[in-house]
Amino acid sequence: MAVPFYGHVRQYHAIKAEIDAKIQQVLESGQYVQGPMLKAFEAEAAAFFGSRHAIGVANGTDAIWLTLMALGIGPGDEVITHPNTFFATVEAIWIAGATAVLVDCDPRTKCIDPSLIEAAIGPKTKAIIPVHLYGQCANMPPVWDIAARHNLMVIEDNAQAIDGRGDAFRQGERSDAVTTSFIIQKNLGCFGDGGMVFTNRDDVNERVRKLRNHGSNKRDHHSFGFNSRLDDLQAGVLSAKLKHLKEWTDKRIQWARRYDTGLKDCRSITLPYNVPGYRHVYHLYVIETKNPSLRDDLLNFLNQKGIDAKTHYSIAIHKQAGFPWGKPYRIVGSLANAERNAASCVSLPMFPELTAAEVDETIAAVMEWDAKHS
Ligand SMILES: *Cc1c(COP(=O)(O)O)cnc(C)c1O
Repeated sequence: MAVPFYGHVRQYHAIKAEIDAKIQQVLESGQYVQGPMLKAFEAEAAAFFGSRHAIGVANGTDAIWLTLMALGIGPGDEVITHPNTFFATVEAIWIAGATAVLVDCDPRTKCIDPSLIEAAIGPKTKAIIPVHLYGQCANMPPVWDIAARHNLMVIEDNAQAIDGRGDAFRQGERSDAVTTSFIIQKNLGCFGDGGMVFTNRDDVNERVRKLRNHGSNKRDHHSFGFNSRLDDLQAGVLSAKLKHLKEWTDKRIQWARRYDTGLKDCRSITLPYNVPGYRHVYHLYVIETKNPSLRDDLLNFLNQKGIDAKTHYSIAIHKQAGFPWGKPYRIVGSLANAERNAASCVSLPMFPELTAAEVDETIAAVMEWDAKHS
């Protein structure tokens, strides 16, 4: 039996009537761009997330650089993040014209290591972008403390962690903004591309709203901006799906616990680390081979059995061919943890609509491989 990596069509079929009704509603309204459905979804998303404002934009990458721009961050300014994230985090810093400053990740969580941030701060540093990688929040309280001490701004990249939270903290609590992506494979995914900026700051809300719409929030009045809007059709799909997000997250967590239990005796791999008390939303369930040189062997073994395992991400950003393409950057200290993560990661199938049989088949295959290498 083949085990797929994504369940997009299964999810559509599960709530087809609700999605179709929303799409119909938009089609019949005749308002497809910045119409009532977008407005309604923005209100629902802000309430769900617990932020004062939610602004729909075209994708998760734009959400980051539009926010940077709204915060006045651009050429000459430095933004600190880590290199084992999806490429877009660093790309967005460059699109805004700023300098990407890379520090290493925590070896267990793979999120930014807060203890390395202060050494990377210089006179030009303006902001920190922690990424809630794989669905688990970065350790935010120390990041917020450092930002407060050095008068820096914080933008959380939660493209992989909507519905996630910390133990004693919530996403965005002390940040200037939180950005997300709604591309289909994310935990809340539309039928194409979409993104959002969450913020409690009225000025950021107003600036991002203008930037996404040719610098305009009033007919015929413009300042410099772009076209980066979230279509009402996608907003309708997201509105239907948002009602199911918590239950889908709970399903992901249930599958993660099944993997944890099934794989606990494996000796050649390590399992994802869930910080006690954090709601890890398992956008991805990423195991690592203890010996990085065996990673491709495990990946091929699973793929040959029809299990669609993948890698996230097998090349750290600073190791991409041609890096940094003439773009400004600084690397502070060793990036060994990020490099090891790239060399050893394997993502197992993880989506709410998996079946127990599919998870068990994946567990059996990993155990078979582990027995040969332990
Ligand atoms: C997906 C993703 C993005 C970019 O989102 P797009 O909608 O594809 O532009 C940014 N950061 C992270 C961590 C992501 O996973």
